[in-house]
Amino acid sequence: MTDADNDKIVAAIQLAEDKTSGEIRVHINKKLNGSSALDDAKEMFHKLEMYRTQKRNAVLIYLATEDRQFAILGDKGINEVVPSNFWEDTIVGMKYHLSKNELLEAILYGVEMAGNQLKRYFPIQENDKDELTNEVTHG
Ligand code: CA
Ligand code: CA
Repeated sequence: MTDADNDKIVAAIQLAEDKTSGEIRVHINKKLNGSSALDDAKEMFHKLEMYRTQKRNAVLIYLATEDRQFAILGDKGINEVVPSNFWEDTIVGMKYHLSKNELLEAILYGVEMAGNQLKRYFPIQENDKDELTNEVTHG
């Protein structure tokens, strides 16, 4: 990931958050810490204090690049209202890009799709706040 790649991801998050009150963050590791991407995502979600949103509608896109693993983890405010296969299309698209070694495209796709998905349940409100930073974190 170059700085330019990083900037593109931040810009994509800003664009996505213009459409939804949901908050999107991206965390990138080289390797998995725990036994699965989902476990790692849960840990990072907590470390990044992503539960600190009014509607509990934050989403973490977590990737372990060298292990080619990723997870999309939404907070309980999302899980309470969306169907269980909510992230399926996003996951399929990200997997497709990763299978072609298109890491940046996978992330940008994931962010854009997450924004499009979230806006149906959590449309942008007046006086929206950027509750969680759009900066990408690296582990
Ligand atoms: Ca916001
Ligand atoms: Ca944000």
